[in-house]
Amino acid sequence: MTEHQRVLRTEIPGPASRALQERRGAVVAGGVSSVLPVYVKSADGGLLTDVDGNVLIDFGSGIAVTNVGHNVPAVVDRVREQVANFTHTCFMIAPYEGYVEVCEALAELTPGDHAKKSVLFNSGAEAVENAVKIARVATGRQAVVVFDHAYHGRTNLTMALTAKSIPYKHGFGPFAPEVYRVPGSYPFRDGLGGAEAAAIAIDRIEKQIGGDQVAAVVIEPIQGEGGFIEPAPGFLPALSEWCEANGVVFVADEVQTGFCRTGDWFASSRENVVPDLIATAKGIAAGLPLAAVTGRAELLDAVPPGGLGGTYGGNPVACAAAIGSIETMRAQDLAAGARRIEETVVPRLRALAEKTGVIGDVRGRGAMLAAEFVKPGTTEPDAALTGRIAKACHAAGVVVLTCGTYGNIVRLLPPLSLSDALLDEGLSVLEQAVIEESSK
Ligand SMILES: *Cc1c(COP(=O)(O)O)cnc(C)c1O
Repeated sequence: MTEHQRVLRTEIPGPASRALQERRGAVVAGGVSSVLPVYVKSADGGLLTDVDGNVLIDFGSGIAVTNVGHNVPAVVDRVREQVANFTHTCFMIAPYEGYVEVCEALAELTPGDHAKKSVLFNSGAEAVENAVKIARVATGRQAVVVFDHAYHGRTNLTMALTAKSIPYKHGFGPFAPEVYRVPGSYPFRDGLGGAEAAAIAIDRIEKQIGGDQVAAVVIEPIQGEGGFIEPAPGFLPALSEWCEANGVVFVADEVQTGFCRTGDWFASSRENVVPDLIATAKGIAAGLPLAAVTGRAELLDAVPPGGLGGTYGGNPVACAAAIGSIETMRAQDLAAGARRIEETVVPRLRALAEKTGVIGDVRGRGAMLAAEFVKPGTTEPDAALTGRIAKACHAAGVVVLTCGTYGNIVRLLPPLSLSDALLDEGLSVLEQAVIEESSK
C-alpha cells in the first residue's frame, strides 16, 4: 500500500534497487538511461513506492504522461474490461469501436471547428513522422521546416527534425534529407517579440528554401526537451498565418503539451492558433502506448488506403485507457487542475529566483513549468548546478527532471491532480536544494 506522503526508509537508491540495477547492468543496453535508478513497485496519487519501501513525490509523470495519475479507476476499469475481452485484432484487419471513439474525442477536443479526422499510432515520434508523410502527400512538396531547440523523437526522420546532437543524434546519421532548421522564439535568450522572431524565421524560409517548396512547418507550441521554451506572444499566430498564405501545412507537435498539461486541452489554443495537423501522444492514455495525428479531414484523406497504419496502432487496450483518461480529465476539469499548479508554483519559483540569484528565468504554463539556472547576473547556463539540484531532490525523495539544450533547466511536470499538500512538500524540497546547492 502506498502511503499518501513522502517516506524515506533507506538511502536513495536503496539496497533492493541497487541489486536490481546490478542485474540490469548485465542485460539491459547501456544506451537506455534512467534519471533515477529506484525501481518502482507501485504508484498512486503522485507518489512512487520503490522496492525498498521509499515513497517519492513524482514531479515527472513519466515525462508528462500520467496527467490523470498512475492508476485512476476510469482507466484501470476500462483497461481491465478490454484486456479480458480481447487484446488485439489489428485495426487494419478487423476494426473495433474504441479506435473510432478515440478519434471522435480527438475531433471534438482539438482546436478548430472544421471537419477533422485522425489516425492512431504507438509513439509520439511515429505520430510526428506520419504528420510529415501526410503533409507531403497532400501538398506534393518535400521540405520540412523545424526550429532551434526542437525535439520530435528518435526515429530516423524525427532525429533529423530534432535539434540536439548529444545524446539524440550523435553517431546515428545519415539523417533524412529535406529538413531545414530556422531560429525560433526564446524570449529569455533572444530578447525578441513574437512578431520580430517570426519575421526572422519566415525570411529565412523564403530566402533559403522557398515558401512554395515547403510541405510542413513542424513546431512544439511550448518546446519540451529543448528547455520548456514558451515562444513570445504573436510568434505562433504569425507562423500559422504565413503557412496558410503559402499553402504550407502547420503541424503542432503537442506530444508533450497536449491533454490539459499546459492549462488548456491543447497549448495551441491559448493564442487561438488552429493547427492543420496536430500530433499527440504522452498524456493521451495514461501510459499505455498510444499516439495520434488529428487534423483537417481533407489532409487525412489525401493519403490513399493502406498508406497509413501499423500493426499495433490504436491497440484496443490503449484506446480503452485513452477513453478513461479523457473521461477523467473532463470529469475532474484537469485543465483547471494544471492552472492551479501554475498559480502555486510560479510565485514560489520567482521568489526563489529573487532570493538566490541563480534562476535567470521562470517560465511555462499550467503544470509544464521550468526554472532556467544561470551564473548569477548573467545568462550563462549553469548545467553543473542544475545537475546537483536534481540529485539533491532525488536523494530527498522528489523526482524532478532536467532538460534544455544547455542542460540547465529543472522542469516540473506533476500529475495534474496532485494534492496541494504533496505539491507544497515537493516544492519545499526543491527550494531547499536550490538554496543549499547555490551557496556551495
Ligand atoms: C516525447 C516527445 C516526442 C516523442 O515521443 P515518443 O513517444 O517518445 O516517441 C515527440 N515530440 C515531443 C514534443 C515530445 O515531447
